Amino acid sequence: MGRRRLQDISFDLAPALARRQIRFAHETATGFELERHLVRTDAREHEYDFLLIATGHRSANEAVPGLGPFAGPGHSLMSPPEAEELRSALERFLQRPGPMVVGCAPGASCIGPAYEFALEVDHLLRRRGSRSRVPITFVTPEPYLGHMGMGGAGKIRQFLEGEFEERDIRYRSTTAITEITAEAVSVAGGAAIESRLSLIIPPLAGVEAVATTSGLANPKGFVPVDERYRHLEHPDVYAVGVAVALAPVEETPVPVNFPKTGHMTEQMATIAASDIAARISGKTAAGESHALSARCIMDMGSRGRTSTSIPSVRPVSRSPRSVTGRTGSGPSGRSSVSTSGAPDTDDRCRQRSAGSAQLCEPAAVSM
Ligand SMILES: Cc1cc2nc3c(=O)[nH]c(=O)nc-3n(C[C@H](O)[C@H](O)[C@H](O)COP(=O)(O)OP(=O)(O)OC[C@H]3O[C@@H](n4cnc5c(N)ncnc54)[C@H](O)[C@@H]3O)c2cc1C
Repeated sequence: MGRRRLQDISFDLAPALARRQIRFAHETATGFELERHLVRTDAREHEYDFLLIATGHRSANEAVPGLGPFAGPGHSLMSPPEAEELRSALERFLQRPGPMVVGCAPGASCIGPAYEFALEVDHLLRRRGSRSRVPITFVTPEPYLGHMGMGGAGKIRQFLEGEFEERDIRYRSTTAITEITAEAVSVAGGAAIESRLSLIIPPLAGVEAVATTSGLANPKGFVPVDERYRHLEHPDVYAVGVAVALAPVEETPVPVNFPKTGHMTEQMATIAASDIAARISGKTAAGESHALSARCIMDMGSRGRTSTSIPSVRPVSRSPRSVTGRTGSGPSGRSSVSTSGAPDTDDRCRQRSAGSAQLCEPAAVSM
C-alpha cells in the first residue's frame, strides 16, 4: 500500500520479446482496416495475416459524474497513472482523515481490487492508529458481497461479510452510485454517504481504436469471439483478455459484469496462439478451448487469501439476493442505473450463449 512505485514493477519489453524473435513496435494502434488486413498506428501501417487484439480496457469513468480522478473528485486504480494519483490522494487524506467510501460503479466487472483496497486501507489505518477517525463504507452493485460478477463462489460471501463485520467496514449491496463529490457519494434512491476519499471502480469499455472500427466490436467496444477466440465474422482476427466480449453470468438488479482476470487472459492467449500456429502449420490445434479458470490472490493488508477456479461449473441456480450490511438503511434498489452499466455483451453474444458450450457463456470461476 503505497510502498512501491511504478518503476519498481516495470521492465523493458523490447529485449524480452527480441529473445523470442518478436519485433516490438511501441506504437499506439489508432484503427484497423479489416478487409485490407491493416493496422494503423500513430507511426505507420502494419500488414497482417493474423491479428490478435489484446488491448485490454478503457475505464468508462464518465459513467458516474465526479468519477475522476483527473476530471473529478472520485479516485480509481484501473491504470498506472490513476493508481499513482490515488497514492498521492491517500497520502493527503492520511494527514486529514475522515469518512471514506470504497466500491464499484454499476456495470463494473473488475470488483476484486475494491475489496482489496478496503481491506488494505483498514489495515494501514489500524497500523497508524487512526482507524477510529475513518468510517469506511463499501458500496457495490453486486447483489451480495463476493458475487464478483460471477454469481459468487464457495464461501467467499460469508468470508467477506465476516471480514467486513470484524473490521467494522459498513457495506451496501445492490446499490447504484450516481454521483461523487468532494464531500459525498450519492446513490440511487437519494442517499448521500459522507466521504472525503472515494475509490470507485468504473465499468469498463473497449479501447477507442477497437470500439470505433466498423464491424470489429460490440456497442461497448468488446470483441465478439468464438471458443478459440476468433472473431465471429473475421476469422483472421483474434481477441483475448479484457478486450473480449463475455456475457454476465446472470441478471442482477443493478448490473455487474463478468470479471476478466489476468489468469484467464493467459489461458485465452494460449488457446488463440495455438489455433493460429495450427492454421499456419496446417496441423490441428492442441489444447482444450474451454479450460478457462482463474486463480487470484487477495491482498488483505496483514494477510492474504488465495483462491482457485472451478472450471466449467456455472452458478446456475443462484437467484439474485440483496444484502445490506450495517448501514442502518436498506439497499437502494434497481433505480437509476446508467446505460454504461449495461451488460458487456450484445445480441450476437447472447445468441451464442444460447447454444452449446460457447465462450459467451463462460465457466464460473472463484476469486
Ligand atoms: C487493480 C487490479 C488488480 C487486479 N488483480 C488481479 C488478480 O489478482 N488476478 C488476476 O488474474 N487479474 C487481476 N486483474 C485483472 C488483470 O489485470 C487483467 O485481467 C489483465 O491485465 C488483462 O490483460 P489484457 O492483456 O487483456 O489487458 P491489459 O493488461 O490491460 O493490457 C492491454 C495493453 O494494451 C495496451 N493498449 C491499449 N490500447 C492500445 C492501443 N490503441 N495501441 C497499442 N496498445 C494499446 C495497453 O497499454 C496495455 O499495455 C487486476 C486488475 C486491476 C486493475
